[in-house]
Amino acid sequence: MTRFTAAVATDPGRVRASNQDRAVANDRLLAVADGMGGHVGGEIAAQLAVEAVGRSYEAHPTAAGLVAALREANDEICAHGDEDRRLHGMGTTLTAAALLEAAGGARLVVAHIGDSRAYLYGRGGLRQLTEDHSLVEEMVRRGEITRTEAFFHPHRHILTRALGVDRQLDVDTWTVDAAEHDRILLCSDGLTNECPDGEIAEILAANTDPGDAAQALVVRALEHGGSDNITVVVADVEGTVSGTGVSSRDKAATGTAPATSPAAAPLPPGTAYARPKPPSRRRPRPGERLVTPWSALFVLALAGVLAGAAGFVEWFVKASYFVGFERNRVGIFRGRPGGFLWFKPTLVETTSLARSAVYPPSLPFLKAGLLEPSLSAAQGAVRTLVSEKNKLGLSAVFTTSGSATHGRVTPGAAARGI
Ligand code: MN
Repeated sequence: MTRFTAAVATDPGRVRASNQDRAVANDRLLAVADGMGGHVGGEIAAQLAVEAVGRSYEAHPTAAGLVAALREANDEICAHGDEDRRLHGMGTTLTAAALLEAAGGARLVVAHIGDSRAYLYGRGGLRQLTEDHSLVEEMVRRGEITRTEAFFHPHRHILTRALGVDRQLDVDTWTVDAAEHDRILLCSDGLTNECPDGEIAEILAANTDPGDAAQALVVRALEHGGSDNITVVVADVEGTVSGTGVSSRDKAATGTAPATSPAAAPLPPGTAYARPKPPSRRRPRPGERLVTPWSALFVLALAGVLAGAAGFVEWFVKASYFVGFERNRVGIFRGRPGGFLWFKPTLVETTSLARSAVYPPSLPFLKAGLLEPSLSAAQGAVRTLVSEKNKLGLSAVFTTSGSATHGRVTPGAAARGI
C-alpha cells in the first residue's frame, strides 16, 4: 500500500492583504488552487475547488475520478458565480495529484488547469510535470519569446485556462510511475515566480522532512520579495514498489475552446475622483451686507486660486490619453476615461483594429479606458494589442487570471499579481 506523507505551507506574502490560495493534502490526494477575481471571489473559488475535488475524488478514487472531480469543482464555481453577481468572473487554478495502486507499482496521476505547478523530485532531479496554461507560456512554446522575456512580459499573469470560467473544461492529465521516496511538489505561482527551479531543487534536497521543505520554500519565496500568495505542498511517496519512471501525457478531455475570464475588473472610470458638490444657495437676510472691501479682496484671491486650480485640472486632463472603443474600432482619446469635471474626452484617432479582433482579456481594460501618459504611449499600447491579435490568431477564447487582489489590476496591467 502506498501513501503520501504530505505537508502544506502557505503565506499571503509581503504584498497581498489576503490569501486566495488554498490547498489540501492527505495520504492519497494533493491539490493546490490559486483563486482570482473580485474582492472575495478568488478565495471563494479556490476554497470551493479544493473542497469539491476532495469530496468528489474520495467518492471515485480513480484517474477518471480525478478528472471528474475537477469538472465537478468547475460546475460548482460556475454555479456560484451565476447566482451571485459579486462573484461573477471568479475562477481558480487547480493542480491535483493522486496516488493510485496499479499492477506493478503505484502511479501518480496529475490533473491540472492554470499556472500552479506539479513537480516530481526524485530519480533524475527536479522535473516539472505540468505545463502552465498562461499566455506567455504559450508564446514561449511557440518560440515567439524567450523564457527571460516571458519573465518580464506585462501579460505574464494572464491565464489561458482556469476553473470556474466556462462550463466547458479542458483538463490536462499526466500519469507517472511513482517510486518509494519520490517527492511531489505542488505550488502556486507565488513560489515559481520568485524561486528558480535550481533553488527549489536545493531546498528539496536539503530538507528530508516534507514539512520542513515546504516551510523552507515559502521562506525563500518571501526572501525574494513574496509579491504574491505562496502555497506549497510537499509529499513523499512511502511504501511502494519501484516503478520505471516513465511518464505519459494523456489527453483527458476532448478539446473545446478554452474559457476566458478577465482576471479582475478594472476600476470603473472616475471612481477615484469625487465630483464637487454644487454650492448650497442661501438667500441674504434683509439688511445683510453682501460686499465689504475685505470680502471683495477675499473673493478676488479665491478667484485667483480657483483659476489656478482650473488651469491645473485642464493640464491634468489634456495631458493624458487613453485607448478605448469608438463604436466598433479601437480609438485613442485625449482626456480622462468617462470625462473629468467639465472636460469631455476627445477622439484623437480611430485605429484599424476592430473591437472583435481584440484579445478578449484586454476587453475590460479598453472598455474602462486604458490610460497612457502620452499619445505615443497610447499608440504603443495599440501596437501591443495588434501584436497580441496576430500572435494568437484569436481562434480560441482565452482566459485571464488576475488576482489583482491576488493583485488588483490597474488599467494597463492586464494581469494578476502586478
Ligand atoms: Mn498566484
